[in-house]
Amino acid sequence: MINVNSPYFNPERETMSRQQIEALQLERLKQAVRHCLTNDFYQKKFEEAGITADDIQSLADVRKLPFTTKQDLRESYPFGMACVPLRDCVRLHSSSGTTGNPTVILHTQKDLDEWANQVARNLWMVGLRPDDVFQNSSGYGMFTGGLGFQYGAERLGMLTVPAAAGNSLRQIKFIKDFGTTAIHAIPSYVTRLYEVMKEQGVDPRRDTKLKVLAIGAEPHSEEQRQRIEEMMGVKAYNSFGMSEMCGPGVGFECKEQNGLHFWEDYYIVEIVDPETLEPVPDGEIGELVLTTLCREAMPLLRYRTRDLTRVLGRSCPCGRNHIRLDRMRGRSDDMIVLRGVNIFPIQVEKILMQFPELGNNYLITLVTEDNNDQMIIEVELAEPTDNYSLIENLAKEIRHRVGDEILLKPRVRIVAKGTLPVSEGKAVRVVDKRKVYQ
Ligand code: AMP
Ligand code: ZN
Repeated sequence: MINVNSPYFNPERETMSRQQIEALQLERLKQAVRHCLTNDFYQKKFEEAGITADDIQSLADVRKLPFTTKQDLRESYPFGMACVPLRDCVRLHSSSGTTGNPTVILHTQKDLDEWANQVARNLWMVGLRPDDVFQNSSGYGMFTGGLGFQYGAERLGMLTVPAAAGNSLRQIKFIKDFGTTAIHAIPSYVTRLYEVMKEQGVDPRRDTKLKVLAIGAEPHSEEQRQRIEEMMGVKAYNSFGMSEMCGPGVGFECKEQNGLHFWEDYYIVEIVDPETLEPVPDGEIGELVLTTLCREAMPLLRYRTRDLTRVLGRSCPCGRNHIRLDRMRGRSDDMIVLRGVNIFPIQVEKILMQFPELGNNYLITLVTEDNNDQMIIEVELAEPTDNYSLIENLAKEIRHRVGDEILLKPRVRIVAKGTLPVSEGKAVRVVDKRKVYQ
């Protein structure tokens, strides 16, 4: 029975001492390793690394384990890394942002239950209770922000409004009519929603019951968060998730807003140097590496997230000793996260190179305009031309084809050969003017 007066959704797990957390992690890690070894993929990896399950005797031994990567997921597409028979799985999510094979994550019913518990824990942590009304503006479907928050909010016991993405007028009507007190949205969408509220003469402070925003799924700066809080007159909490680790729920800020608590009863958190793959000291920026501790269908050992962050601490005035990490500071690969969608520049390049009229030089610029994050693609012509209808059609076709590939429609500018800057070293293909990693 949940105690609504407790600041914790799962007091036993959330308030564990460091010693208790680490003891539980070791026990779960040993189980997870044995479970992984039922699968050929991991058996081979372990053989290559020359280790066996018995080599894991302490938590530090996690470093003996082989890393896993997005590439591994693609190569084993779709079910090669499953550690249970498919008949035991009840759902899969597939991630955007890859050329060739996408990545697939399978879930058993228990995996989904634990994921819902994790999300509920986060939402409870920022003050939400069964009396609250939770509106989710994530797309429902393969994108984990939809179903992930849905089941988590239901698990907490809130009245949920699965509004899904877009249609701001309808979102605002729901917020007012249903007395929505909490919204989950990507940060760039909150600013858009606010613009529409202003146009409609709706003042979020005066005309709504909003008290909490969960913002995440894409990088954003502290300044952007503060702006959102001022606009909407409510607290906005950073929510970190990734499909490979389930989706939302992996890391979340508590009311102290002093970093993201990553739940160490579910994951082992490591921060490594992306070049040497050796651990970096607390406080130094490195790549986040996560090991799932409870997953049945598709456990992942030492998964290289490619997200860059640092350890801020392992205690907190909120009473939770689960590790606190800084907001994401960048990526160790060239993946772009734009409006919650993962995009690799190579996806755009592949399409541009299919047009013989185009040259090799192109530039992707990410900007925030009218509170909306946009992608602008500039690409040079191969030969000079004054055939403007050809240029216009080219731009239209590129917009359409790239839009199909990355699920967002870019703005396209065709420019004359020699117009775009040429860098001396490695070509600069992406300029991010959103200033999201600050
Ligand atoms: P997906 O697998 O589609 O959910 O995308 C996961 C990626 O989105 C992560 O690896 C991060 O790069 C990014 N991401 C998700 N949440 C956040 C957040 N709160 N802050 C910064 N980046 C985020
Ligand atoms: Zn805390």
